Amino acid sequence: MSIDNHKETLGFQTEVNQLLDLMIHSLYSNKEIFLRELISNASDAADKLRFEALSDDALYEGDTELKIWINFDKDEKTITIRDNGIGMSREEVIEHIGTIAKSGTQEFFKSLTGDKVKDTQLIGQFGVGFYSSFIIADKVTLSTRRVGLDKTHGVKWESAGKGEYNIETIEKESHGTEVTLHLRAEEDEFLSDYRLQEIIRKYSDHITLPIIMPKVTTNEENDETTIDEEIVNTATALWARSKSDITAEEYTEFYKHIAHDFEAPLTTLHNKVEGTNEYTNLLFIPARAPFDLWDRNNHRGVKLYVRRIFIMDDNEKLLPPYLRFVKGVIDSNDLPLNISREILQHNKQIESIRSGTVKKLLSALETMAKNESEKYATFWKEFGKVFKEGIVDDSNNKERIAKLLRFSTTYDDNSTPVITLEDYVGRMKEGQDKIYYITAESFSAAKNSPHLEILRKKDIEVILFFDQIDEWVSTHLTEFEGKKFQSVTKGDLGLGNLEDDAEKKETEEAENSLKPIIERIQAALEAKVKEVRVTHRLTASPACLIADEHGMDASLERLLKSAGQLVPGGKPILEINPNHPIINALKNETEETRFTDWSHILFDQALLSEGGQLEDPATFVKRLNEMFITMGNLSSSPIITLT
Ligand code: ADP
Ligand code: MG
Repeated sequence: MSIDNHKETLGFQTEVNQLLDLMIHSLYSNKEIFLRELISNASDAADKLRFEALSDDALYEGDTELKIWINFDKDEKTITIRDNGIGMSREEVIEHIGTIAKSGTQEFFKSLTGDKVKDTQLIGQFGVGFYSSFIIADKVTLSTRRVGLDKTHGVKWESAGKGEYNIETIEKESHGTEVTLHLRAEEDEFLSDYRLQEIIRKYSDHITLPIIMPKVTTNEENDETTIDEEIVNTATALWARSKSDITAEEYTEFYKHIAHDFEAPLTTLHNKVEGTNEYTNLLFIPARAPFDLWDRNNHRGVKLYVRRIFIMDDNEKLLPPYLRFVKGVIDSNDLPLNISREILQHNKQIESIRSGTVKKLLSALETMAKNESEKYATFWKEFGKVFKEGIVDDSNNKERIAKLLRFSTTYDDNSTPVITLEDYVGRMKEGQDKIYYITAESFSAAKNSPHLEILRKKDIEVILFFDQIDEWVSTHLTEFEGKKFQSVTKGDLGLGNLEDDAEKKETEEAENSLKPIIERIQAALEAKVKEVRVTHRLTASPACLIADEHGMDASLERLLKSAGQLVPGGKPILEINPNHPIINALKNETEETRFTDWSHILFDQALLSEGGQLEDPATFVKRLNEMFITMGNLSSSPIITLT
């Protein structure tokens, strides 16, 4: 590490400036949260020191009672928050206090609307942290020394929150961090015992460290004052207390602290698991998705403690990725305190904590779905797209997860999914033995796909998949309660039992009479299609494309291609509708070039109607225009159905 004593002035990262600006304006009505944020940081710093000290006692420097001290000075107009936690090195100060390292920072700034009310909620969700000091302070001084570094390696950081900060190396006797807020003139209200204690009890009561304030008593007789220390908070781990002693407000404040959220959670679970592997979990499902929900590598929702000592907040081993939106604490009674990350990888107890916790969460969701459908709808809206990954991630609980899924279908043409697989199976038609679904790039592409025509006509329900993740999910969702899933764009629909004899005969006749043109179309489209055949699916459209039974859905193929993957190029099957006027007109088309053009137009429009992209759109348009010109004087001909 380089020793750099000189004082330097550095610029904040652009995002920090934006954040500061926005925060000072939008959080002004909620300015007391600065104290919650600074106490939360001090508490995190203590957790980190405890964890590092597990393998090296000396890091405590003889000071094992970790605490947070809050002081104020009426004359100087300052508030000071001090801890004897881990502290920071110069590099760490620059890295943590000058930049925002959170994932999703870019997305966050893009999502800001300029509307103060909306942005205030967003910023709360993003987590304002240390910078909230500048809501009430026009200058902030932080001095710190990391444990393990000698006292000449202290750091002083100072900023007025306007674009830049000063940093210098100082001598600092005690390890840990001290943050001094120089209040703006109008913020006098915070220079009061009463006010500060009120804020601490409101937001930080659950912090497990003692939060200490000086208590000044004046002796009436001789007018002498003595200063004692007073612990302001309860200072016990909330999750270790008994459920019946905890108020809803306490749960909510605890949630806001660990989740950096402004809003109350959607639901709270608090369980003590007893037996050979004892642990407590206090878990929350937020009411709103965070910005980095998409990041499957972000596992910072659940903190692991061992007998109240923080071990880590990388919960990859504690919960599968599809539950990454869950926040909270798991505290084990039985794991060894000096557990290393390597041991965590293959630890039987951790595995059993993990599977027990997943089961608890699934049953909480089941209960919510059953008894609080509105809440469940919020859950699904916020987290459904991530929860669905469970079908792929968690094969042990696949059936339970499948029951918790919500779908849009052709019976409920609404892009908000509310239908369950049990609903679907419960109303399957007589003779129907498959669960039909379609995947497409958007809700309207799914809903309007020509592939649905025959199923709509027969009043058979089809599940509409239109989220990107659905492509992936549908390849793993192959069966539910003994019913197989069937893509309507793939292979044989298996409508056999649903067709009556007249229909079967009709198709057979059509197949015979269309044989010659099927062969001609096949010849024209040799390079593009595997086969041409009479359809069982269409009633209104002239043609559609089908993947063969073992092939890949066209939309999955597109998804993989767009993700830059090499896709084995299976050619699709073109199905034509014997009852469509264009197909009938084709029977009489003797001019070979025109027949070829028609064949290509049929293929291309089938591709377009399922949301595909043409390889050569210009040629398609040229062919189409030529058709219009040739047919121009035949305005009564069936060609006009092409629109
Ligand atoms: P967050 O706490 O969400 O990471 P903050 O803005 O509150 O965001 O803090 C940024 C970082 O600064 C912390 O992650 C931590 O590394 C460092 N930090 C802040 N306060 C302290 C402190 N009192 N002791 C040690 N490190 C601190
Ligand atoms: Mg913080």
